[in-house]
Amino acid sequence: MAKGAFFNVPFHGHVNATLPVVRELVDLGEEVTYYLTDAFRPQVERAGARFHRYESTVEEGLKAGTVGFLPARMPGESRHVLAQLLEVVRADRPDYVVYDPMCLWGRMIAQLLRLPAITFRPTMAIDPGVGQFAAFMRSRAAAFPSLFEQANKELAALMGEYGLPPTDFRGMMGHAEPLNLVCVPRAFQPGGDTFDERYLFVGPSIRPRGDAGDFPFAHLAGGPTLYISLGTIFNNWPEFYRMCFAAFGGTPWRVVLATGHAVNAAELGPIPDNFLVRPSVPQLEVLERTDVFVTHGGANSLMESFSYGVPVVVIPQMAEQPLNAHRVAELGLGLALDKQTVTVEQLQQAVARVAQEPEFRAKVRTLQQGVRASGGYRRAAEAILEFRTRQG
Ligand code: UDP
Repeated sequence: MAKGAFFNVPFHGHVNATLPVVRELVDLGEEVTYYLTDAFRPQVERAGARFHRYESTVEEGLKAGTVGFLPARMPGESRHVLAQLLEVVRADRPDYVVYDPMCLWGRMIAQLLRLPAITFRPTMAIDPGVGQFAAFMRSRAAAFPSLFEQANKELAALMGEYGLPPTDFRGMMGHAEPLNLVCVPRAFQPGGDTFDERYLFVGPSIRPRGDAGDFPFAHLAGGPTLYISLGTIFNNWPEFYRMCFAAFGGTPWRVVLATGHAVNAAELGPIPDNFLVRPSVPQLEVLERTDVFVTHGGANSLMESFSYGVPVVVIPQMAEQPLNAHRVAELGLGLALDKQTVTVEQLQQAVARVAQEPEFRAKVRTLQQGVRASGGYRRAAEAILEFRTRQG
């Protein structure tokens, strides 16, 4: 038995895919400590890990939808969290570290304590050498020039303060360790064949979450099911939810709409009878019963959808979601719409096409085979154990 330390940012899209791996490691006899904010304590403990808290500077702003350009906040967040955790982890003496690349303090702790480290990416791997990524990075830097520049300066300064080689935002997100676990199948990864043996494309890391509670699944009986969610972060878009009412209210679709916690359903006006509106839903169980998923294209949501064989209509909101949307359209797994110009008619047409044209479902089924072959959380846990055995 060995001791693993998991580090992550306090966002569901980053944490969710790690939890099945933690559970598997614990079941195999590992001792895992997961460093996260209080909001995640229940999930972490359910996964069998020891929970250790830290305070975040961005979490509340994210919930309220006021955090702005998140990467610009990460240097400050890293400095704040590192100060809380470095000595705690030193005293705990883990044998290895697993961290999300967004969470620079995980990498820094591993470097400072000279611990073997593994990255765990819920999203596609970033390789600035692959054209799509390079163009994407340039577009982000051009959209937020001063924030990007400031964040880069702060990152370099932070690394300097701890006597570590400088990095910038690109270097942070693209950094590779001797083992890098990626939660998309290689077939979904642009330039998939160009990644070397340090990268393991384990595909979606999904396990039943036991979070269905008394969710009224009976609502979904008697018609095709449409599930709509913009994920857990950039979901404060009431106009879009009203467009969905206009597009699908009074149709044969049984619709589940997860609005997130920033929007109050009472402000959305009359809710059509065929809609079930909730701040949050048990997404895996809903997807099991879904015919078409209208999604923001977060990596977890897409991978979960494809795992259940569900084609998508993607309306990207932020971060790497435009890249994901582009990839979905390129592989014929669904259609992509533009957030700036989307209309009620476009929504209706896109959903109708994805529901009716069998090609979309066929392509998703093919990817689903790739997903199954990638091994998911079990393969990820095995790889972690192999890695730490080699290191030890
Ligand atoms: N999720 C959920 N219920 C909801 C909305 C989202 O369980 O009502 C989960 C979803 O299954 C996924 C995660 O939250 O695992 C969202 O991650 P994703 O990468 O799709 O998007 P993000 O929230 O990071 O933008």
